[in-house]
Amino acid sequence: MSNPIYLDYHSTTPVDRRVAQKVYDYMVHNFGNSSSIDHIFGDRTQEAIKKAKRQIADLINSSPQEIIFTSGTTESINLVIQGLQPSRIIISPVEHKAVIDTCQAMAKKGLAEIIWLKVDKKARIDFNHLEKVCSQGADLLCIMGANNEVGNIYPIEEIGKIAQKYHIPFLCDGSQAVGKIPVNFEDWGITFLTISGHKLYAPKGIGALVIRKGYRLQPLIYGGGHQNGIRSGTLNVSGIVGLGEACYLRQLEMQEDESAIALKRNHLQSLLQSKIPQLVVNGDTENRLAGNLHISIPNVPNSAIIARIRHQLAISTGSACSSATVSPSHVLRAMNLSDDLIEGALRIGVGKFTRDIEIEKSADIITNAVEKIFQLTSIYDADKFTRI
Ligand code: PLP
Repeated sequence: MSNPIYLDYHSTTPVDRRVAQKVYDYMVHNFGNSSSIDHIFGDRTQEAIKKAKRQIADLINSSPQEIIFTSGTTESINLVIQGLQPSRIIISPVEHKAVIDTCQAMAKKGLAEIIWLKVDKKARIDFNHLEKVCSQGADLLCIMGANNEVGNIYPIEEIGKIAQKYHIPFLCDGSQAVGKIPVNFEDWGITFLTISGHKLYAPKGIGALVIRKGYRLQPLIYGGGHQNGIRSGTLNVSGIVGLGEACYLRQLEMQEDESAIALKRNHLQSLLQSKIPQLVVNGDTENRLAGNLHISIPNVPNSAIIARIRHQLAISTGSACSSATVSPSHVLRAMNLSDDLIEGALRIGVGKFTRDIEIEKSADIITNAVEKIFQLTSIYDADKFTRI
């Protein structure tokens, strides 16, 4: 059986073959431990790590010395929030659970107070409120570069200016942004930036944390004092090489790739809109990731659609799954969408390997499923839903 069409690029991306080739080389041939200082295997991997840091730094305009490697954004976020030990934290309610749960765990232990930002129905941040709460002082501000559900791109440069004005360290979850949109660590006043390999065509389980010069974090993991004692443990050299190569390729190809991705996303959106007139597009459509299409189909539960199409098409409901229970998305709740829109929500993620033919087929698959569900639930009305 052939694979279903993959349109879930926010969840994870396939590894670029050119990246996989490098990773393979550093797993099988150049497999040395970068802490081995007595032989050439160690020397080679140290060189490779240096090169990867340069490649990452070039993509985000930081210094290579500001980069440490982690397993991904969840770990990087935990390291910042737990390692900085802030007592007043300002966060957006549409942050990833990695931020929200870590802050809430600190709050539960009585270590931190959370100040929630206000967002509107399109998940845009209320800047007057942001300025007001920042003016009252805080020890950390957490706002993501781009949202993993509705795809909003946040004005990080402007947010960084506000953070700097009030001397508040600024943590930017860059997992969905880096490699898809320009991010300028140095000039945009970001204090901590997180990167995930598996969102930009590198492997899973490798990521980075960029820490602005002059800031020091308490480690979460103690051990051999690797990475200046901030994150001990033998470095994942092959993953690091892969992350570096992926960043290098994104720098070369991002602009062209993302323009092509946006055209495909727009085509899919118009195909769906023409066939399902009641379809609603969620989020800030003026400022969203090129590959993001977040829709709601009122009166059609997303679970019913997924059940019908999962053997043909991989898209997601965007629900947060935790310990076997599926709860409605906290992002859509924070946006104050109606239950109907939340229940009918689907997240579609187009990526650089998506082909035009897959866009056409996906539109048909979704449309057919919706039509069948309408018929079965006897709310089918040829005026409301017209197959073309
Ligand atoms: N933050 C955002 C916005 C994400 O999309 C994800 C991944 O789903 C994470 C954090 C967690 O990243 P990782 O899987 O690298 O730990």
